[in-house]
Amino acid sequence: MTVAVEKERETFDVVVVGAGAAGLYMLHKLRGLGMRAVVIEAGDNVGGTWYWNRYPGARCDVTSVEYSFSFDKELEQEWNWSELMASQPEIERYMNHVADRFDLRRDIRFETRVTSATWAEGSRRWLVTTDRGENLVAPQVVMATGCLSSPLKPDIDGMDAFNGTSIQTSLWPKEGIDLTGKRVALIGTGSSGVQSTPEIAKIAGHLTVFQRTPTYTWPSMNRPLTEEDLAKVKANYETLRETQRKSRVGIAGSFNGALIEPPTAKLLPLSPEERQEVLDKYGFGATRMFADIATDMEANILAREMYAQVVRKMVHDPETARKLTPIDYPIGCKRGVVDQDYFESFNRENVTLVDLRDEPFVAVNETGIKTTKSQYDFDVIVYATGFDAMTGALNKIDIRGRGGEKLKEKWADGPRNYLGLMATGFPNLFTITGPGSPSVLSNMLVSIEQHVDWITDCLAFMRADGDETIEPSLEAEDRWVDHVNQVAEGTMYVAPSCNSWYLGANVPGKVRQFMPYIGGVGAYRQKCDEVAAKGYEGFVLGKAREAVGAR
Ligand code: FAD
Ligand code: NAP
Repeated sequence: MTVAVEKERETFDVVVVGAGAAGLYMLHKLRGLGMRAVVIEAGDNVGGTWYWNRYPGARCDVTSVEYSFSFDKELEQEWNWSELMASQPEIERYMNHVADRFDLRRDIRFETRVTSATWAEGSRRWLVTTDRGENLVAPQVVMATGCLSSPLKPDIDGMDAFNGTSIQTSLWPKEGIDLTGKRVALIGTGSSGVQSTPEIAKIAGHLTVFQRTPTYTWPSMNRPLTEEDLAKVKANYETLRETQRKSRVGIAGSFNGALIEPPTAKLLPLSPEERQEVLDKYGFGATRMFADIATDMEANILAREMYAQVVRKMVHDPETARKLTPIDYPIGCKRGVVDQDYFESFNRENVTLVDLRDEPFVAVNETGIKTTKSQYDFDVIVYATGFDAMTGALNKIDIRGRGGEKLKEKWADGPRNYLGLMATGFPNLFTITGPGSPSVLSNMLVSIEQHVDWITDCLAFMRADGDETIEPSLEAEDRWVDHVNQVAEGTMYVAPSCNSWYLGANVPGKVRQFMPYIGGVGAYRQKCDEVAAKGYEGFVLGKAREAVGAR
């Protein structure tokens, strides 16, 4: 438990919050500018997502060679990924390697949580406070707090009464937890639940999966990487990175054929026989091979029927197959899940599916979980119940900009900013992969690097130009918010039947707004570069306080 003792003020050029991939790379770049930076991290080590999410089966859904830093050629050459889609321990090792290789730890304060950030108009500085009583003063603050770093626990009656072990996938203990032979409940069937199901099933005495909404999930093509694979990638990294940066979702796809660029062929014009042929050949893959599935509800419904057919083939018990089949929301509304043997797990004798639509929770009690139909007893309850995504970690910090305006209040009707990078009224406060940027719709390491590079260039520009402050004009912010909303229109992401964390729908009371920018990684990068090339068009720089004040 952290004890806060008020401390003397310390001054820095930049305070960075978070030591995941974004915070690590930001620190490295700030050092390159000769700036004095400090990183504040709540965990006791680096890695962010890959530090916290240690549940069995946690794994990347992007190929390892693509989900890695590109900023250092030697790093690229010296690191050897062992699998096509790396597991959590391997990615965590990689993040630690990066921290050590670039000697980053000496400027990171661990087990410390930032509690507030307040802009002081007079000094043009941020005052950042922590739960250890630190008072950090800096002209610039970078929020590298993560989009999926604010865990959500459901509000089910009696949760504290359970006598066994309760655990969240996103807060899995470092020392692990022995599930061997145990009676385990798993609540939630998003990516975390789907990834952990087969792994828990392998070791638990019995696994009961509590599902509220069935999931669209596609089989991973994971396999070990050979020396030959690695040699090939290492010889071609430059092209791969270039392709990633210009792509739509930050994935070159050339290496393995997984999650490639959006298709162009259409499903609707195919005859039933042609559709069946594709389905027989590609299985689940057939339901993400056609462009119109993402934009045309009729095509989407056809694809759903195809998806259901494959589930029926995979899952032996017809009733379980029926329950596992999504029926009331489109493919492409939520983040596609990538699994290893998910549906196969339900053919095991030690796995049971409980459909919460048939039998909702009544309560958690001393021995387990009571639904409207049964009492289930457990040794362990695992909550795979997701995150307050994109805005959660930021809103937990009391951020106050000009005139004491609270960021949380400014964003009460949904996040508003320019390019996903900065919000009007909050000068010199950058967000990495914030709402309004491609962020969670992309291979995030590509988007993180792009944001960090852009922020670094911006700070270098300001220094050379003699600027003290930067923030977007309200006009630029309004235009960007309109654009972000407009490009999402007509996609499955915002279909009325879609309820995803992208829309904030998983958090009670959170306003419904599609938060990430769907315009594509390549196009977005170009836009950001153009803005910079035009002297930070849409931003108000330096001593233009009067102009901003008059908005
Ligand atoms: P994070 O890794 O979330 O790091 C943020 C850090 O900030 C955390 O360590 C947190 O403790 C710290 N922090 C937050 N608030 C405070 C505060 N107030 N004070 C101090 N510290 C604070 N993306 C992909 O592209 N591909 C994938 O396959 C993929 N898999 C994922 C799997 C899981 C289980 C999850 C949860 C996410 C996954 N993501 C994936 C998204 C993933 O979050 C990003 O890829 C990336 O790791 C984000 O890095 P980050 O540094 O921006 O944020
Ligand atoms: P999630 O997708 O939000 O899934 C949460 C699950 O918990 C849902 O099935 C939800 O059901 C269920 N749930 C929540 N509250 C509940 C309640 N009160 N009762 C019953 N069920 C409840 O969260 P996640 O699985 O952690 O994934 C979040 C994101 O993290 C992913 O979309 C992805 O971007 C990233 N991630 C990636 C990977 C990877 O493959 N690399 C792995 C894990 C996470 P409803 O759908 O009915 O709300």
